[in-house]
Amino acid sequence: MAPGSEPSSIKLFNAPKIKDNATVRKELAQACRALDWYRIGVNDGIFNHVSALARAREGNGNVILLVPYGVLWKDVTAECLVAIDTETGKVVEGKAHLTKTDIGLHLTTYRRRPECTAVFHCHPTYATTLCCLEDFEVRCISVSCIEIINEISYDRGFSDASKDYGREFDRWFDKLGDNNRILMMGNHGVMTIGGSVAKSFDLMVALEQACRTQITAMTTGAKLKEISQARCERFNGLLEEAYSDHAQMHLEAFDNLMPSCTS
Ligand SMILES: [Zn+2]
Repeated sequence: MAPGSEPSSIKLFNAPKIKDNATVRKELAQACRALDWYRIGVNDGIFNHVSALARAREGNGNVILLVPYGVLWKDVTAECLVAIDTETGKVVEGKAHLTKTDIGLHLTTYRRRPECTAVFHCHPTYATTLCCLEDFEVRCISVSCIEIINEISYDRGFSDASKDYGREFDRWFDKLGDNNRILMMGNHGVMTIGGSVAKSFDLMVALEQACRTQITAMTTGAKLKEISQARCERFNGLLEEAYSDHAQMHLEAFDNLMPSCTS
């Protein structure tokens, strides 16, 4: 690399859409608490694979904020988050023990999808249940599906990734593709990415609600009634027009879950 030049990913990291450190800390902590509030099983014990890009607390550049291993989502605060370097994965803000899996997904996410500033990888109950069925697929049968139905990619295989986490996370992004923001993984769980913490959070909630409706409908044994693609697209257009700021408002509606003092 020539002196003074930067990898293209770094230029994209420096795009103005990346928010200041304190704002992203609050949003990420609030999203974790809100997902816990929904009681949808997203936080699998203390496995916390969520992160967001933020401006560094000190100096120039950006960092990746993570929930440290060992913290329950209901207890996450803005200050407990740790930051890692966007290139090396080294901890640069806070102190925490992080494993290769804690770090690898996040470095891969922002390298492979540079327009993305937040990623949530979780095992929510109904979405994961659907992922455990042969030839699983989200069916467009309810209003909850409409927002997400054209955003979903599928990885119907299963890999334990025990030997090479780096290659495994790249495989996830190969499956996700260049445009979709939701990946459903066979026998495993789901991942949502977005241009904001709010969007990744909102997609996760919508996905789980859609899967809950679908699994419940399937238990009746009756034939599922699909919404046509044309109707789906028309209705989605109306929703986007009427509720353009929905994801951010959804997240901010959980302000009451945050402790009054976050320092
Ligand atoms: Zn997982």
